[in-house]
Parts: sequence; C-alpha cells; structure tokens
Amino acid sequence: VDADKPNYLNYHERLVKLVKVNGVIVYDNTLWYGSVAKSENSVPEILKEARTSLLKFNKALADDPQYILETNVYPQEPEPLKEIRAVTASHPQFHMGTAPDAGQMMEMLLKLTGAKKTIEVGVYTGYSLLLTALTIPEDGKIVAIDRNREYYEIGRPVIEKAGVEHKIDFIESDAIAALDKLLEDHDNEGSFDYAFVDADKPNYLNYHERLVKLVKVNGVIVYDNTLWYGSVAKSENSVPEILKEGRTSLLKFNKALADDPQVKISMAPLGDGITICRRA
Ligand code: SAM
Ligand code: CA
Repeated sequence: VDADKPNYLNYHERLVKLVKVNGVIVYDNTLWYGSVAKSENSVPEILKEARTSLLKFNKALADDPQYILETNVYPQEPEPLKEIRAVTASHPQFHMGTAPDAGQMMEMLLKLTGAKKTIEVGVYTGYSLLLTALTIPEDGKIVAIDRNREYYEIGRPVIEKAGVEHKIDFIESDAIAALDKLLEDHDNEGSFDYAFVDADKPNYLNYHERLVKLVKVNGVIVYDNTLWYGSVAKSENSVPEILKEGRTSLLKFNKALADDPQVKISMAPLGDGITICRRA
C-alpha cells in the first residue's frame, strides 16, 4: 500500500480480509519523514495532516525504538517471551538478550519461510531460542549451541513451562567445534532452513563459512548486532573505547557479507541491527 495516507486504515480494514492467513501486507511511508516520532509543534505544517493519519494508523514504526516496542512489539509478544525477559532482567548480563523488535522480525521470517530445522549460535538465557521454539511447528528442531549451560538453565524453566523444550537440542560447546561436528555428517549439508547467530563477534565470519554449508539454498541466516550500537556508521575516533574491538569485527564482517556471492542480504535497523541473509 502506497497511496493516500488518510485512507490507510480503510485499506487495511479491507486488505486483512483479502489477504490469506500468513499472507503479507506492506505499508509504505509509515515513518512520514520521521515526524511520527516528534512532537507535533516541531513538525512542518505540510507534514502534519499525514502525520496525524499515520500516528493513528500504525501507532508504529518510528525511529524511536521505545515507540516501536510499546506500540508494535509488546502488544504481540507471546507471554512466555515476556516471562523469559523477566527472569533475565536481574542477571548482570541481561543486556545480551535479543531485542524484542528484532525478535519480532525473526518470528516473521521463521513463519514466512515455514522453517522447521534450525540452528542457534549463542543462546544465553534463551529469548531468541524460545521465540524460535514457539514459532516453528510441533515437529520442528533447533540445534542450540552455547559454551555456557548455566545461562541456559536460567531460562529453561520458562521454556519447559511453555511446552516447547522437546524441539531443542542444546549443545554445550564452543560454537566452531559444534558446527564442524555437524558438518562431519554430510547429511547435514544444506539441510537447515534457518540459523540465528548471536555469539562472539570476532568469530562471525567463521560461523558464516560453516553456516552457508549447513543452510539450504533459499534458507535464511540472521546475524545479530551488525550495527554494533550504531558504531559501524561512525568514525573510529568518535566511538567509545569499549565498542572499538566489536566495531572492527563487524565492519569486516559486514563488508565480507556484502561481497559474498553465496548470499543475498538485507540489514534491518531493528534492535542493534540484524543482517538477514538468504542463501543464493
Ligand atoms: N540470543 C541470546 C538471547 O536472545 O538471549 C543472546 C546470546 S548472548 C549475546 C551471546 C552468547 O554466546 C552467550 O551466552 C555466550 O556464552 C555465547 N558464546 C560466546 N562465544 C561463544 C563461543 N565461542 N562458542 C559458543 N558460545 C559462545
Ligand atoms: Ca545480540
């Protein structure tokens, strides 16, 4: 939909009836030049009318992540995911949990591709793992790799309560070793529908090298934190010291992905940036 904004709600009312379950509707211009995230009196007169329409229409997508979370993500976030965020909130590394807005896109990708057999590299307490387990079919499988089982144990009761633990094969291991082990069995080559990577950033390229072999053609690999707090788009000397190492890894990784003929990519500025790859 890319027509008159005051009618977006009218179009939507009709389109949700015309489009099948699991079908997609895309609305253009929902940020309206960024004005939906600004106060009304700071917005030029010419934008105001459509801003009002779009605020009403989407209560959604703007360049303020809190706005997106509160109006789009949290209202649709499944209860078990809220629970796993709650049990993680008091953990010292709570910030490592996948951003719920990025998670929402991952759920969309999993559903749209009908993913059944998946891999996760970097589990922590299990937000993205639980999201995947809740989204794939009853007979779906997730190979979940993390070198630290203690973190996984924090979220495991929530996963168990949600009734999806049977879909998870948790492997406590260094991720390169675990992926190499999977590759030893040639039946695993090109057999996975989807992979999500959210572990140590200096190894992203090592994971990519292995995952493009494990994921099937047209399968999806999602890499988290590819914007690294926005630092990849800033000059090195304007970036805090603590971000520099990760920034260097991700700059190299992002460039390598863009140059890799094995994948087609889309970097979505959700959470801390996710790069979505489709194996070409
Ligand atoms: N996706 C998780 C979530 O939604 O909560 C967050 C993952 S957290 C950012 C990164 C995880 O990667 C940590 O649990 C850490 O133990 C794991 N990790 C880091 N380096 C690793 C490696 N070389 N091999 C296996 N796991 C690793
Ligand atoms: Ca992350």
